[in-house]
Amino acid sequence: MNTARSQQLYERACGFMPGGVNSPVRACRSVGMTPLFISRASGSKIYDEDGNEFIDYICSWGPNILGHAVPQVAEAVKAACDRGLTFGACHKGEIELAELIRRHFPSMELLRLVNSGTEAVMSAIRAARGYTGRDRIVKFEGCYHGHSDGLLAKAGSGLMTHAIPSGAGVPAGCTADTLLAKYNDEGSVEKLFSACGDTIAAVIVEPCAANMGVVPPKPGFLEFLRDITRKYGALLIFDEVITGFRLSDGGAQKYYGITPDLTTLGKIVGGGMPLAVYGGRREIMECVAPLGSVYQAGTLSGNPCAVAAGTAQLKLIENTPDLYERINSSAERLYSAMLDVGLNANRCGSLLTVFFTDRQVTDYDAAVKCDTGKFAEYWRHMLENSIYAAPSQFEAMFVSYAHSDEDIERTVDAIKSFKLR
Ligand SMILES: *Cc1c(COP(=O)(O)O)cnc(C)c1O
Repeated sequence: MNTARSQQLYERACGFMPGGVNSPVRACRSVGMTPLFISRASGSKIYDEDGNEFIDYICSWGPNILGHAVPQVAEAVKAACDRGLTFGACHKGEIELAELIRRHFPSMELLRLVNSGTEAVMSAIRAARGYTGRDRIVKFEGCYHGHSDGLLAKAGSGLMTHAIPSGAGVPAGCTADTLLAKYNDEGSVEKLFSACGDTIAAVIVEPCAANMGVVPPKPGFLEFLRDITRKYGALLIFDEVITGFRLSDGGAQKYYGITPDLTTLGKIVGGGMPLAVYGGRREIMECVAPLGSVYQAGTLSGNPCAVAAGTAQLKLIENTPDLYERINSSAERLYSAMLDVGLNANRCGSLLTVFFTDRQVTDYDAAVKCDTGKFAEYWRHMLENSIYAAPSQFEAMFVSYAHSDEDIERTVDAIKSFKLR
């Protein structure tokens, strides 16, 4: 495979951006590579500057559930651009998108549009603290909730890959109110609540973890979180930035039948543009300015072009009745192939991860024991077979509606030939 142009571009990029990238996992360091520079993408395929074609299972880390460059989404954005890129004022599109979201997430009685998942989570936590008058937050080891200070305590994905224990530049004071529990371990949560339950504002969780690799909740775990937060007057926040519109049209809360107090959405909800959402019970969200004293604002929040992309993609999702059945069964075919050749893997809906460890991965401790060298070998093998997947042991593979039977067959063949080598 010729990657000369990507390598040249990478050298140039390194002169301008730390590590040549605008987000660390793109650097491909943990798999011993330098990044491919992408020139375009369409449907299930992505093309680099050297003209190589790949079947893409990153899908921009989740947003492109219908594939790349979906014409109806692109057209909606072009039309919005012609009407003005940003107004910094109210517009009709915001209401239409909010209605669409609430139709699928009835727990989000009031919601706010923001620009990134990081911002959505940061704001949801501020609302939870404002509403409860409490400071402490419980988060789970290995769950990632964006890069705001308070949540960079042993976060997953990028940090695990780069082995930064909790990250420099975050004052200890910023994580002093962040309590860490173990995913799928009710006892670890129980312990925190019995020690200081009346000071805990909220428990935040990825209802299906996907940033330490895919780690589904054990049966009863989310119910337990719902019960214990209620018992102690704390809020339950589902960070559905990945799972929203991914596990079902109503996200993980519909998939598992558990209603959180607050929800964050991102990725799919923006249709490929920078847009995210936080919202929840009316009385909590009424604490947000201008109704209440929890401050949160944004120059580009509700940006008309981003709103147009999100609205167009959500409407397409509504009009694709076989969406979830199809992406889940495609993912199941990949998952079966992995198991057939003796690989260890987890799958939840259309999200899956191969884990290079003998143990079943149910939490962060098990995930970090994976052999990342073996993973790198697997990743390079897949790339040589024109399969573009996340260059990290601690990320998900995202299956989209654009992946054809042939794409899945070719991927199955690549998985099988890894073991045969
Ligand atoms: C991606 C992600 C975020 C952060 O979203 P950004 O848009 O990258 O800031 C937060 N939470 C979860 C669960 C995510 O997967």
